[in-house]
Amino acid sequence: MASHSTGFNSGLDIGKSYYVATANPAPDHPALAGDVEADLVVVGGGCTGLSAALHAAERGLKVVLLEGGKIGWGASGRNGGQMIPGLRKGSRGLVKTFGPERAKALFDLAFEARELVLDIIERHGISCDLRLTGHLVGAVGRSDVRDFEEEAECLAKVMKFTDVEILSASQARQMVDTSYQGAVYERLGGHMHPLNYTLGLARAAVGAGVVIHENSVAVRLEREPSIRVFTDKGSVRARHVVLAGDALLKGLEPRVNSRIMPVGNYIVATEPLEGARNVIPANVAVSDTLFVVNYYRMSADGRLLFGGGERYTPSPPADIAGFVRPHMEKTFPQLKGCRIDHAWGGLVSVTTSRLPHVGHYGEVYFAHGYSGKGVILSTLSGKLLAEAITGDASRLDLFSTLTPLPFPGGTALRGPLYVLGMLWYAMRDRLGH
Ligand SMILES: Cc1cc2nc3c(=O)[nH]c(=O)nc-3n(C[C@H](O)[C@H](O)[C@H](O)COP(=O)(O)OP(=O)(O)OC[C@H]3O[C@@H](n4cnc5c(N)ncnc54)[C@H](O)[C@@H]3O)c2cc1C
Repeated sequence: MASHSTGFNSGLDIGKSYYVATANPAPDHPALAGDVEADLVVVGGGCTGLSAALHAAERGLKVVLLEGGKIGWGASGRNGGQMIPGLRKGSRGLVKTFGPERAKALFDLAFEARELVLDIIERHGISCDLRLTGHLVGAVGRSDVRDFEEEAECLAKVMKFTDVEILSASQARQMVDTSYQGAVYERLGGHMHPLNYTLGLARAAVGAGVVIHENSVAVRLEREPSIRVFTDKGSVRARHVVLAGDALLKGLEPRVNSRIMPVGNYIVATEPLEGARNVIPANVAVSDTLFVVNYYRMSADGRLLFGGGERYTPSPPADIAGFVRPHMEKTFPQLKGCRIDHAWGGLVSVTTSRLPHVGHYGEVYFAHGYSGKGVILSTLSGKLLAEAITGDASRLDLFSTLTPLPFPGGTALRGPLYVLGMLWYAMRDRLGH
């Protein structure tokens, strides 16, 4: 893969990430030059946009995809790689908001994301260090364990889902070498190399006939008399557009952008940890119950990939490794002073309800705001968009009932008000709830 240290989505040190250092070879895609026509134009070369493009092309549409930077250099190629089935909101929250029947339908649909991603990986032979070892959530407080038990009960009763196991503190410790009060183990979770998955999805999309243009920032969207997306060197006229820019989309469509808030999140990769220093003997993906969540897993070559710490200001910390290290060493004191080989960050797009925002305004389709749980949901959402565009909107309509409320104060005030709220919860983390 060609290195591009500057450019549209090259901020927060993505070029220094473990994923870029271990990326599978991938072709460059030329920038858009001139005016072209298609059935569908997709803005954004992450998993949402690539999946929408792939599935639309498989259904016979002529698709052009515009990526402002490099394929996968948004959240899709720099995240924790944790495959966590379901939605960010627990089943009790879903039942409370939507009632048992709709909650179960939404839960089942979201759960399909896992099978879809596994099927794509197999069908297209994507090499992405897939590990189906499960996902463990460590309880930081005692009340979290009670919470897990109630959640497991609702999962079993309403969702008819029993693939979770409540673990005692000592059982949890056998899987991950840190102190939790207990844990919930989700057997169907896992982890993977997200950039290599995204590059594989791009290869599959091209194989299905999608034309990809990198370094092609969509700067303007015209809706009348027909859809036309402009870059500074050309345009794509089409019957439909998918906006899949997530946290980076900005002002292209204000109705879409006003429902998400970008939050900076940071990750490190340690030196390879051998023998007793392998802190996750069960090789599961792990997160904890803190509001500013710590999430971590081992890479295929034995490094700890640890994400921790958020920032609600637009600028990243000057020293990302120094920013994440205290979170990592608090979880694993035994790793004090270990070498950090890679440190980078990304923007997570969060919504007021922590549920995704998907749907369409006429022929303008969108999906984003997975609130830190988008590794597999993004691929599903892209497929639902493609289904709707090609004539079957039933599943997109169901998913779009999740629509979160806009941020109070709109785009102008969402920053300051949201930051105040976040800082309050982050302080509760530090005070022990
Ligand atoms: C640090 C971090 C860790 C995370 N960890 C996890 C995790 O472990 N598990 C999990 O489930 N989720 C995680 N997430 C969330 C997950 O990565 C995202 O929800 C998901 O990748 C979103 O995919 P996407 O395709 O919608 O957006 P992206 O992957 O961000 O893709 C959007 C693309 O659109 C492009 N774009 C934007 N605007 C324009 C424009 N105007 N013109 C052209 N192109 C444009 C961008 O350059 C970008 O490539 C994490 C996110 C971050 C940032």
